[in-house]
Amino acid sequence: MKQLVIISGKGGTGKTTITAAIASMAENAIIADCDVDAPNLHLVLEPEIIETSDFYGMDIAHIDTEKCTGCNVCIENCNFDAIHTDHSINSCKCEGCGVCEYVCPENAIKMINNPSGSVFDSMTRYGPMVHAELMIGEEASGKLVTAVKEHAVSLANEKEAELIICDGPPGTGCPVIAAITGADLALIVTEPSLSGIHDLERIIQVTDHFRIPAIVCINKYNINEGNTKQIESSCEENGIMVAGKLPYDTVPNKAMIGKKTIIEYEDNEFSEKLRNIWRTVRSELCEGQ
Ligand code: SF4
Ligand code: SF4
Repeated sequence: MKQLVIISGKGGTGKTTITAAIASMAENAIIADCDVDAPNLHLVLEPEIIETSDFYGMDIAHIDTEKCTGCNVCIENCNFDAIHTDHSINSCKCEGCGVCEYVCPENAIKMINNPSGSVFDSMTRYGPMVHAELMIGEEASGKLVTAVKEHAVSLANEKEAELIICDGPPGTGCPVIAAITGADLALIVTEPSLSGIHDLERIIQVTDHFRIPAIVCINKYNINEGNTKQIESSCEENGIMVAGKLPYDTVPNKAMIGKKTIIEYEDNEFSEKLRNIWRTVRSELCEGQ
């Protein structure tokens, strides 16, 4: 079983639109939405939830008022100002570091599980999908991405799926690292804007660092052909294949409005280019065997 992760560095490059299109072309695959801070793959794939599991992010401190003598040692040692003078915890400020539990002379503080989201095992018209929801204001999205991937791997083993397709988060931080961990190939979707070029360089450093093979797709390449050439040269210098270029077009928006992937929306030049990109991705995945 192979793992493909679609990432972008910069948000808004068309990563999720391309992921949805790939999901509609792949066979025997598990789809995983690892963009847990702002998931939107479900808008197109309309998954039907089969099973929901609670997700526990960071632990938070809890003070047993029966045991507390009011010595204030915990307040003095909390670097996050998360303990009120009445010795209750401000759950929005508690970072779960556990220092208060360690320093309390009365053993009055315990770290407790904090439910902070849900993981969903679902079914779409293109096969099983794992996705998640993080409660408002909650953190630990990297840990939630790992939970989504673990569900996807277990589902892939159960269904004997050949591929896991992960829609990765934008950026280069912890959730991205969690999403690319274990991937056989990263498809990086970029665009020829200045921030697109900058963030492409950064995400390539990340995939390089973690030795994840990467290929690039340039979306909206004709909005700035000079910048597109720059991206192509930079990819060539770094030994990274450009799997394909997609023009600026209204097709993705029209497909999205109709809650369809670009492939199921209609056969046209744009969808043919996407089919070619998928052929290249599939062949790169097979080559890595
Ligand atoms: S350190 Fe323990 S005993 Fe002292 S105020 Fe905090 S909870 Fe109470
Ligand atoms: S766990 Fe850390 S952040 Fe939370 S209240 Fe205790 S010392 Fe403060």
